[in-house]
Parts: sequence; C-alpha cells; structure tokens
Amino acid sequence: MKKEVLLNPGPVNLSEHVRKALLKPDLCHREPEFIELQNSIRGKLLEVYDLDPGEYAAVLLTGSGTAALEAMLTSLLPADGKLLIIENGVYGERITRVAEIYRMAHQTIRHDWLQGIDTGALQKTLSKNDFSHIAVIHHETTTGRLNNLSDIATVCADTGVELLVDGVSSFGAEELKFREWRIAACAATANKCLHGVPGASFVIVKRSALDNKKIKSRNLYLDLANYLQQQDANGTPFTQSVQCFYALDEALNEFFDTGGRQARQELYQKRMHIVRHGLKDAGIRPLLEETECSCVLNAFHLPENTPYEYLHDELKKAGFVIYAGQGELAKKLFRISCMGDITEEELERLISVFDAIK
Ligand SMILES: *Cc1c(COP(=O)(O)O)cnc(C)c1O
Repeated sequence: MKKEVLLNPGPVNLSEHVRKALLKPDLCHREPEFIELQNSIRGKLLEVYDLDPGEYAAVLLTGSGTAALEAMLTSLLPADGKLLIIENGVYGERITRVAEIYRMAHQTIRHDWLQGIDTGALQKTLSKNDFSHIAVIHHETTTGRLNNLSDIATVCADTGVELLVDGVSSFGAEELKFREWRIAACAATANKCLHGVPGASFVIVKRSALDNKKIKSRNLYLDLANYLQQQDANGTPFTQSVQCFYALDEALNEFFDTGGRQARQELYQKRMHIVRHGLKDAGIRPLLEETECSCVLNAFHLPENTPYEYLHDELKKAGFVIYAGQGELAKKLFRISCMGDITEEELERLISVFDAIK
C-alpha cells in the first residue's frame, strides 16, 4: 500500500522497526518478560532528559496523551490545593475542563490564542493568591507556539508553586530543563516526538511531589501514586497495552541510536525550515515568527480563496495529510507537523504540490 505522509501532530508515520515490534510474541502483563519491558521503557524515558531515577520517575499508562494529562492533574493536587491554569489555546482550555470536571479549586489566566504568556500578569496573580500548583502547556499545538517555560519557571520558583507541564507535543524534541525549571511533573505520550504507537502515555514525576499525605486519588484508573508504587515494585495495577509498549521500547532504541533529544530537535528544525521557506516562496504566510514557534509544528494562513477542505483533499490525493486549525482558528489556518518517519524528499514534494494547487 502507498505511504500516506502524516503531517498531523500525531499519530506519526512509523519506522519499519517500530511497526515490526508490534508483532512480537504474545505476552501476559504479569510475567517477568513484561516487567523487563516496562522497566526498560521507564529507564529510557528518564534518559531522554538525563534524569536521576532517585529523583524522578517515569509512570507508564495505557491511554492517549490526555490520559497522562488527567492523571497528572488529578493525582498531584492535594485536597486543599489550588491550581492556576495558563491558557493560550485549545490544550490550555482542556486543563481547565479537567479542573472543572473534578471540581478542583482553580483559576485560569486566559490569553488571546495568538499571544505568548504574559509573565507580568502571572506574577501579579500569584502574589495576590495562594496557589499550590501551576499548569501550563509547553508547546501549544493549537498555534505552534513554544511557550516561554523558562520565564514561567522563574516566576514559579520565586513564589514556591509547583509547576505541572503538558509536554505532550514537545517531550523528546524541545528542551525541558526538569531540574533547573523545578518541574514537578510533565505529561507526555508515545506517539508524537518519540515516534511510537498511540495507546501508551506517561508522566515524568518528581518523586517528592507525590510524597504528600494530603494527596488523595480522585479516580481509580488514573491514580499516579498507585501506578508509581506498583511499577517500582515490578508490577502494574491494570492490564497495559503490551503491543504499544513493545513499539515504544523500539522507538526509544531508535531515538537514542539517532543521537537522542538534541538530534531530534535538529532534525525537526531542518524539516520545518524546508516547509516554512518552501511555503513562503509559494506565497503562504506563517502564523507566528520562527522564533516563537516549536520545531514540531507550525501554523500557516490558508491561501486566499482556498477553503481548508479543498486544500486538505487536494493534498490527500497527492499522499499528504495536513491538519486543520482548531476552534476559532479553523477557518483561517492549517497546520503542518514534521514528526515521524518522513523524509526531506517527501517535504520537498509537498511544497511542489502546494505550488501546483494554489
Ligand atoms: C496531542 C496533545 C495532547 C493529547 O492529545 P491526545 O489526543 O489525548 O493524545 C495534549 N496536549 C497537547 C499540547 C497535545 O498536542
């Protein structure tokens, strides 16, 4: 079958090695071979950012990125905690939804979706209130903006609030200084920058952040403390998606074989350069300045008089899947992500298809 080049922000095109890993032998999740697999993944995930296993732990879940996000938010906020949420896109809104559903004490600082995070306003809000935690999106996939986590971390450090990060679309490619930014936890997934299969996700958690008597689980399935305790003891509370784990382990082997986190960032930067400059020559304007964007995904204005559906369908006929804008940006934008097993030749061909369509 002909390859469809996935330029959506996950799931990504799989390498042949990762795809073949799905065909490994059937395995019971209570057997030592599974524990070996689980431990291997947990260790490698910490190595992505060179984290000390005594200080941080990788907690593995079965579910998409949102499962990890919900587990992080509901498991780390103590009963008397209060969460400050920073929003500048759809994924920030999702965090507020989680806080509402679980009736967690929270407040949201909303930004226009095209704006970066205002750390002055953040500082002001923090000084007037008693928040225990802040939740923020690292790479806001809605617009392709890489939020200024380092500045936010500085404000957090000054006030002693704990930082919870949605790193779902940045983990493995963008810089995340866990220790320096004093990140308490970061939720992420197998099938974005790590190039695994959808169905496995994880939270990198500072062990001390879960060590609080006032933390009570708010749900059964997403209780991080329970997962951490059982995974540390070579177990698992529930059936995990064994095949997704096989694939993630193989994807992590490839990740390190190809040079690790920084190499992946450089690879994406190179790919995104081809896309941004090629589209610019075709008269298509990016939404944000290059310096504001992640290397993972960029958003672009739709060409004049070209509805998204037309562009999408023409590109799909040529073998490319692009992504629509979300929410209020749906009529104005399209997005291109460059994760996964794709080639520069494919991106060059994408540009030539754009040239022919518009
Ligand atoms: C993709 C993504 C998620 C999670 O989406 P799922 O569909 O649950 O995997 C969460 N946050 C961000 C920033 C994302 O890009």
